[in-house]
Amino acid sequence: MRITILGCSGGYPAKGGATTGYLLQLSGKNILIDCGSGVISNLFNYVPLEKIDAVILTHLHADHMSDVFVLKYALQMNKQNGLDIHPIPLFCPVTPESVYDQLLNDTNLVVGHINSSTELPLFGATATFFRTNHSVECYGIRIEHEGKVLAFSADALFGPELFPLFQNADVGIMDCGALEKARKPVMLHMTPSECFRLYQECGVKKVVLSHLVPYYSISDVVEEAEMFGPWPYETASINQIYDI
Ligand SMILES: [Zn+2]
Ligand SMILES: [Zn+2]
Repeated sequence: MRITILGCSGGYPAKGGATTGYLLQLSGKNILIDCGSGVISNLFNYVPLEKIDAVILTHLHADHMSDVFVLKYALQMNKQNGLDIHPIPLFCPVTPESVYDQLLNDTNLVVGHINSSTELPLFGATATFFRTNHSVECYGIRIEHEGKVLAFSADALFGPELFPLFQNADVGIMDCGALEKARKPVMLHMTPSECFRLYQECGVKKVVLSHLVPYYSISDVVEEAEMFGPWPYETASINQIYDI
């Protein structure tokens, strides 16, 4: 498996960046996981429109799916212009309904829904989904292929429901959109120390701290992560590639 970070900003894109989006490549197929603002533009650096084989959305917040609406235009316009566009399967949660409904009724997307019991065959891999503690219906994704495991928290608070998702993952991409020093009464994302706890609890081999909020500096994230001594983490950066 190869995973390419197309966007790793949380909430809104950093300057020249993009919000959440990952290109997963396996068995010669291209799977887009989340599709936030700026993701389609960056995707085209790697894969042309007609080579997208599937899209998975962890949840229907704009920073994870706003570019799907632009993808729909791209598919329509290129089809009208004679490009051989095949319908793309898109998997996502069914709520919030007001957003989900906008994804339907487009012949270029074939929308399927995911939930905690979904076991999705994915071109020789298997994707399983874990409901996370977030403000809307949201699923972390665990992808297993040829004995290797990629785990992605999507947006999540720290909690035991994440343990089976990350257990022994080769690469674990974690929502690190919060800082201990900016802890608030109500949190929506994990801090570096919570990501460390998840790493320790689950034996993740390599951790990628992602969903980085542009108004925090990377050095703040690193400073909190470094409090635990050496551990196998990196902060996410756009266009970083991991072969798993
Ligand atoms: Zn988010
Ligand atoms: Zn979210």
